[in-house]
Amino acid sequence: MSTNVETVSVWEYFRSLWQGVSSTAIGMWITFKYVWNYKTVTIEYPEVREVIPDNARMRLFNDVDNCISCNMCAIACPVDCIYISSEKRDPKEEVPKTDDGTPMRQVLTQYVIDTALCCYCGLCTTVCPTECLTHSNDYEFGQYTLGEMKYDYLADDVRQWKQRIVGKEPVYRK
Ligand code: SF4
Ligand code: SF4
Repeated sequence: MSTNVETVSVWEYFRSLWQGVSSTAIGMWITFKYVWNYKTVTIEYPEVREVIPDNARMRLFNDVDNCISCNMCAIACPVDCIYISSEKRDPKEEVPKTDDGTPMRQVLTQYVIDTALCCYCGLCTTVCPTECLTHSNDYEFGQYTLGEMKYDYLADDVRQWKQRIVGKEPVYRK
């Protein structure tokens, strides 16, 4: 029968003791610094929010009423998560124009982005000639399933995001 007895020298014993006491003291010092309001590290979200930088890349929004179905965004997308379909406009029909005066020669029949695949690189918004495709400042779009992150921008509820994004006035951290 063998017994494994671990031995430590007196020096190691006191060194371990010192390490335990000093690291606890340092940890408690940091804790109490924040308890005494040395520096605020949390905010009362959602009542208080961080200021989002102007060039932040959040949820994509396509204002389809200004989309000319040019396909540039889908071509630029490195992960191929933009799905566009369009058809030629009836020649007898008057060609509508976007807000910047670009003629809309095609009729957009599908504009879908699978944002679960999107890497938020921003290339699609950079190439959009009418600037209808933008990264909004809306970062509250968590979903329970990946399928729910595939957005049909021609759908009425998604079109209404335009108001939700523009009209949002968060209370920023003071
Ligand atoms: S942000 Fe990048 S990955 Fe996302 S849809 Fe646009 S091009 Fe594709
Ligand atoms: S690049 Fe802009 S205008 Fe062209 S299809 Fe994409 S969103 Fe529409």
